Amino acid sequence: MLPRMDQFDLIVVGAGSGGLAAAQRAAEYGARVALLESGRLGGTCVNRGCVPKKIMWHAAELARELGHGGDYGFDLNVNGHDFGELVSRRERYIRRLNGIYASNLERRGVHSVSGHAAFSAPRVLSVNGEDYSAERILIATGGSPIVPAIPGAELGITSDGFFELERRPASAAVVGAGYIAVELAGILRGLGTEVTLHLRRDSVLRSFDEILQQACMEGLAGSGVRIATGFVPAAVEQDAEGLRLTAVSGERSGPFDALVWAVGRRPLTAGLNLDLAGVQCDGRGAIEVDEWQETTAPGVFALGDVTGHHELTPVAIAAGRRWADRQFGGMPERRMEYRNIPTVVFAHPPLGAVGLTEEEAREAHGDAVRCYRADFVPLFYGISDSKPKARMKLVTVGEEERVVGCHLAGPGADEMLQGFAVAIRMGACKSDLDDTVAIHPTAAEELVTMR
Ligand code: FAD
Ligand code: NDP
Repeated sequence: MLPRMDQFDLIVVGAGSGGLAAAQRAAEYGARVALLESGRLGGTCVNRGCVPKKIMWHAAELARELGHGGDYGFDLNVNGHDFGELVSRRERYIRRLNGIYASNLERRGVHSVSGHAAFSAPRVLSVNGEDYSAERILIATGGSPIVPAIPGAELGITSDGFFELERRPASAAVVGAGYIAVELAGILRGLGTEVTLHLRRDSVLRSFDEILQQACMEGLAGSGVRIATGFVPAAVEQDAEGLRLTAVSGERSGPFDALVWAVGRRPLTAGLNLDLAGVQCDGRGAIEVDEWQETTAPGVFALGDVTGHHELTPVAIAAGRRWADRQFGGMPERRMEYRNIPTVVFAHPPLGAVGLTEEEAREAHGDAVRCYRADFVPLFYGISDSKPKARMKLVTVGEEERVVGCHLAGPGADEMLQGFAVAIRMGACKSDLDDTVAIHPTAAEELVTMR
């Protein structure tokens, strides 16, 4: 059958954060768009990432705050937690979001096709036996979790499996040291699971500033997460008591009711037949793109997690919208700039970072770097017996002390960072923060009163 070439100006593969953003923005400019999606609208973020994760994080935060009720004079008696009820409310909310995405697409006239897409020829995509072609093709197929290639690995689950759990495991092993390991360990522990976090080195979040690594390790330990360092998994076995992990060193860990792999994600290009399209991938399997998101095949573009750049939802969205602005909105210079990207790890407490770590800044600027720190007990804990600390660091460069990094750990860090990211993007210097009147009493005021 001949491809439906004349019908569309743009074909987008993947209706996740990046694909939806690009398809909708292009349609707003009047482009005729087909959007091909094999799963549920919204992709990873909505269905098995940011959104369900944040709901679970709120549940764990609430449990932590309930624990402080007595400090504030409440006579609370929490009789338990219905994990199944939380999961079913969460999933109902997500179904509602899926519906909202469908009607948004319809309203903008985007032609939505459900099914797995694969190239059948250069610039031709086949879905359910039907061929689609257009002058521009955008690949936004995201990524999928990595499972280590060791005996028994299939006995574990990944973050995808975590969001399918209907009952909370009494005990869990989490393997990994990145965002997902820290976040899922914190959620499970907050809701009552006995958690052991297995790190192959000696710290979590090793690409973050040392104050955030330290705050996160303290937060995990303080909440009762057991941390096994130097543990490189070699095998998993199941016996009558549960799952057991063996490390390369021979060390054993377990038994556990559940095992969660959180050892990174890989770009999802399997089954796309990229070779038929002339689209090349790099050594990590990410689609190679230039600064305009164009692949090695002219007219074929890619963005979001499948390109292996800053795997974050707002990055995929911004890249998608800017790409559509350029292609269909008459803005020839619009493109994504992959620097000063703020990010939050939803740990307990949350951690936020934008710009350079102290280590990165010293590597790049040597002695021209000056850092400011704050280390304090947030007022919320002032009347508590426990005194967890919040930590903040500003990294500045040069005589004018331009702020090149901001690192926050503590309650509210997740909401605090966005505004400071704007200031840093605008080139704020330490004196600009000093000259800004503080808001009292808040934790954020520490950032404008550091000396
Ligand atoms: P995706 O959202 O993954 O979308 C890709 C879509 O393509 C999917 O729907 C998939 O079904 C579809 N697809 C794939 N192959 C095909 C094919 N051949 N044919 C048709 N369709 C196909 N980021 C944040 O910013 N904040 C967070 O708090 C956060 N939390 C996260 C928590 C978890 C557990 C995970 C896993 C990720 C989290 N992320 C978070 C990362 C974020 O989800 C991703 O960066 C984002 O979803 C990437 O968007 P994307 O459009 O590139 O891909
Ligand atoms: P990350 O890249 O953040 O971390 C992967 C971790 O796995 C590394 O810390 C590494 O530890 C460890 N690791 C790798 N291989 C092994 C192994 N064989 N055994 C033990 N540990 C191993 O990946 P995630 O899967 O956590 O998350 C993927 C991406 O999704 C993130 O990078 C982030 O961009 C995005 N995300 C964003 C969130 C947010 O914005 N809040 C939340 C969740 C995900 P080591 O330090 O030893 O190298």
